[in-house]
Parts: sequence; structure tokens; C-alpha cells
Amino acid sequence: MRFELATSPGAPERPNEDWASAALPATGRGGTLVLLDGVTPPAGGDGCVHGVPWFTARLGGALVELSGSRRDLTLTAILAEAIRRTADSHRQTCDLSHVRTPQATAVLVRWGGPADPVEHLVLSDSTLLLQAPDGAVRAVLDDRLDRLPREALRTHASADALRNAEGGFFTAAADPAVAERAVTGSTPRARVRAVAALTDGASRWVDMFQEGDWSACMAVLRKEGPQGLIDRVRALETSAAEQRTQVIRWKLHDDATAAIAEL
Ligand SMILES: [Zn+2]
Repeated sequence: MRFELATSPGAPERPNEDWASAALPATGRGGTLVLLDGVTPPAGGDGCVHGVPWFTARLGGALVELSGSRRDLTLTAILAEAIRRTADSHRQTCDLSHVRTPQATAVLVRWGGPADPVEHLVLSDSTLLLQAPDGAVRAVLDDRLDRLPREALRTHASADALRNAEGGFFTAAADPAVAERAVTGSTPRARVRAVAALTDGASRWVDMFQEGDWSACMAVLRKEGPQGLIDRVRALETSAAEQRTQVIRWKLHDDATAAIAEL
């Protein structure tokens, strides 16, 4: 089994709000992969004295710990408990009812021995890729954000009205109930050769620049590693900026993180 992780901040003067971790159990069978993309708060603040990097570290740490220690819990229950723990750790100091309370997208993958399934959970716009032994790649996406009209997301105020609201999109914030909204599934271990997780800063190679499909993206990850994919995204962004194309919708560079595990 082999893990590889890489990350690159969108801007050197800002903290990287992505977070990723991989864990191997003491039994030597199976593993866990966690990837989070913290949502950047607006200038008006988020009601939290700690900040998004603190939040993702707390939430991600809880997800890794619970995935290993509570194999009796589903990934949905693990996400709910990790959100609850994280909320409890700053309920006394921060306004957790703030619409922009620190929040993150989540990808969580857990697998055990040869007879156990590969379980997955995806919430909001980070991407999970599952590769079968024959090379076929399946992307698992929570596409609620993509299905919203572009106009509805044009301003912070209009996007905030859809944040963790019915008919909108959902992120891991302070309410454990949001875990029920995650896209989940499980695949027999024999049908998975590799898994990969990408924050939207890294998945731009496919969904913004259309350099290839998810299979091609997995091929880059396996051949050049997560850093190779991120380097390609950065080169495309720089080139698009020089040519002043309209392809960059939001920020020129976003925090970009990619992780791959070969089972
Ligand atoms: Zn706080």
C-alpha cells in the first residue's frame, strides 16, 4: 500500500485552507484517506476567533481518529461525530450560528482487509476517484453546487442564502445533521486498485481547463504524483491569465491539494 499527498496554497500571503491526511491502522490491513477544503470567510468575518485552518485541523484530526477507532460507525456517523466534537471545542468562544462559521468540503475513504469494502463519503465540491483493477475510473461527486444557477452564486450574499439551506448546497460546518446530506457508497475491495481525492483547486485540470477526463487525471496522478497534477494546474492558470481568457471563474490560483492511495 502506498500513499502520496501534495498541496499548494493559492497565494503565499494567505494560509492554505486545504487539509489532507492518510492513516494506516496498527493491524497493517486497510487505511483511511481524509481531504478537506476549508471555505474562505468573507472580509466581514465568520464569528470564529480561531480561523479556518484551525477548524480544518480539528475536523480532519477527528475524522482520522474516528475512522480508525470506530469501525462500528458508518462514515456518515463519523462525519456527524467529528462535526459535533469540533463544534463543542469552540462553542463557548465563537458564534456557531454565523452563516459563515468555519466550514469545509469533505472526502473520506476507509478500507479494511481483503474481505471488507472500500467505503467512501463526499460532501460538497471536492472529488473522489475510484480506479478498478482493469483501469476504469469512477468519479464520485456531490454536484449540488454545480447544479445551482451561476447567477445565484454571483455575490457572497446570494451564495450565503443557499449555504447549508434546503435546495442549496451543504458543507461540514457546526451542524452534525449535515452528514446525512453527504454522498456515500461502498465498493468491494477486489474492485478497487487505487483511490484519489482532489480539492477543487486541483480538479481544475478536468473541470475548468478540460485537459482530460477523470481517467486521464488518474493517469497523471499515478505517473507524475499529486505534485505533478498541481504543477500542471498552476501552469494552465498562468497561461490562461497571460492570454486573458475567461476560463478562470473565481480566483486565479486556489488552494490545491491532491492525494492518492494505491491499495
Ligand atoms: Zn472558533
